[in-house]
Amino acid sequence: MVQGQLVDARRVAAALGGRSIVLVGMMGAGKTSVGKRLATKLGLPFVDADAEIEVGAQLTIPEIFERFGEAYFRDGERRVIARLLNSGPQVLATGGGAFMNKTTRDNIAAHAVSVWLKPDVEVLVARVRKKSNRPLLQTADPEQTLRRLLDERSPTYALADITIESRDGPHESVVDMTLRRLAEKLCGSAEPASAERRKVEVPLGARAYSILIGPGVIDEAGPEIARIAPGAKCAIVTDAHVAPLYLDRVTASLANAGLSATSIVCPPGEATKSYAEFARVSDALIEARIERRDVVVALGGGVVGDLTGFCAASLRRGVRFVQMPTTLLSQVDSSVGGKTGINSPHGKNLVGAFHQPSLVLADSSSLDTLSEREFRAGYAEVVKYGLIDDRSFFEFLEGRWREVFSGGAARAEAVATSCAAKARVVVADETEQGERALLNLGHTFGHAFESLTHYDSARLVHGEGVAIGMACAFRFSRQLGLCAGQDATRVEAHLKAVGLPTRIRDDSGLEASTEGILTAMRQDKKVDRGRLTFILARGIGESFIARDVEEASVLAFVKGDLALPPD
Ligand code: NAD
Ligand code: MG
Repeated sequence: MVQGQLVDARRVAAALGGRSIVLVGMMGAGKTSVGKRLATKLGLPFVDADAEIEVGAQLTIPEIFERFGEAYFRDGERRVIARLLNSGPQVLATGGGAFMNKTTRDNIAAHAVSVWLKPDVEVLVARVRKKSNRPLLQTADPEQTLRRLLDERSPTYALADITIESRDGPHESVVDMTLRRLAEKLCGSAEPASAERRKVEVPLGARAYSILIGPGVIDEAGPEIARIAPGAKCAIVTDAHVAPLYLDRVTASLANAGLSATSIVCPPGEATKSYAEFARVSDALIEARIERRDVVVALGGGVVGDLTGFCAASLRRGVRFVQMPTTLLSQVDSSVGGKTGINSPHGKNLVGAFHQPSLVLADSSSLDTLSEREFRAGYAEVVKYGLIDDRSFFEFLEGRWREVFSGGAARAEAVATSCAAKARVVVADETEQGERALLNLGHTFGHAFESLTHYDSARLVHGEGVAIGMACAFRFSRQLGLCAGQDATRVEAHLKAVGLPTRIRDDSGLEASTEGILTAMRQDKKVDRGRLTFILARGIGESFIARDVEEASVLAFVKGDLALPPD
């Protein structure tokens, strides 16, 4: 993804400290094409040594060879490269033989970082075969000559600081690989694994913000927050599970960036989204003298995020807040989109406000400390994005869910893809007038099950309800003749593979009758003047909002589904 490279490029450009990058390697290795792209990304000029030589001599390289011989050319090449290396940082592509010269190599070592572009030999042969203007290949058997040159030169090319072995991939991917390797080499391994770093933008005009995703993002809270709010006072709101794990790291990062911070620790759990905690946290923020220009940081899961966001929305009629989600659910769902709020004794999320964060920092490795059950529950929402409108994402998850669970690049990728999907919907419909309802796939059923288990998370956590709900939505869609049976089966199979429930009866605590389930569904907020609204599907990745679903067909479906034995 593009943003990971941007981070690499920025870090590499800074770490070069005035040095150049010199590309070495055989003719046909892609030094010019890769060099140009690399230079653009690093904001450096691109210079082709061969082109400079031709301009200086007013002759083409084959002409120089023909008229004056190779020794003459090599001498000129050495001088031109020495001059270029003295003229400021740049990305410099050198001719195939340049690096063979000891003086030139020493000069490069003193002024630059060298990169050997080493493509597969067959690729090289194929590329070079197409071009006839290489003087050294004007032989009876150019291919044979190329292989011999490669054998002779490889040990010397290998002296370059970095070797990039590329198969016949697009130049763009060779550029990315080069940037990544340069970042590793120049910035050291203590830096975050930038290959896993992702950035998603939420383009909401004046309320636009970025979501940074990847391992170690927690430790960048300081510089990232200082960038959007230089000199701000910060108040970190967190819960008693998260505080001992991550609070010190956030505070230290803020302090390093010159930002002062106080912290407020809430009891963990849904009960924290209450009037009482709202009042307590708001007063603590006032006591900490958090003002309009300051920043409130929510460090924790959706409970902390929703409560803190609502406090920030109402404190002095709105102060900025930064989401630092530490559960999978909050990283892919609640931290993005600006819905904040608390529960009333009358129901969940009944009191709240739309208040967009100014920044979201999602540390994917913070999920390593999450319980497996919480992780799996959040994963249901990840699957949801695939089911809504991205079949290829669902297929990615089918193939790589184990890596998503165990951490690493696939996890950051899954979080980023989910955030991007949520951001798209939010941007299209910020205050949920229409399309945003798609995000409720699986939730009409899911909420009913949650309410029937009295929101007792020991029995059913939200994501488990959503998993059953999504499986129900697909089975219901199949029953209505909307969706192919194999898609419904495939959805169930994947949810089951990761250990999520898919049947109403999977939850032993749910002893509801058909009528009981329907009654609970009627309480759902998507009931619009008595009509039931469902998110149904024509297939995986083809969900749609179905208003006016007939109660009789819902009843028939639930009755049939309840009759199914548990898995
Ligand atoms: P949560 O905040 O209660 O976190 C779950 C548990 O994990 C808690 O015990 C918490 O202390 C602990 N925890 C958090 N991070 C941890 C970590 N890194 N390591 C170990 N333990 C950690 O629950 P949640 O699932 O994150 O969020 C649920 C809430 O989100 C609900 O209140 C729901 O209404 C809300 N929500 C809001 C939106 C929205 O758009 N605002 C969307 C979906 C859900
Ligand atoms: Mg949800």
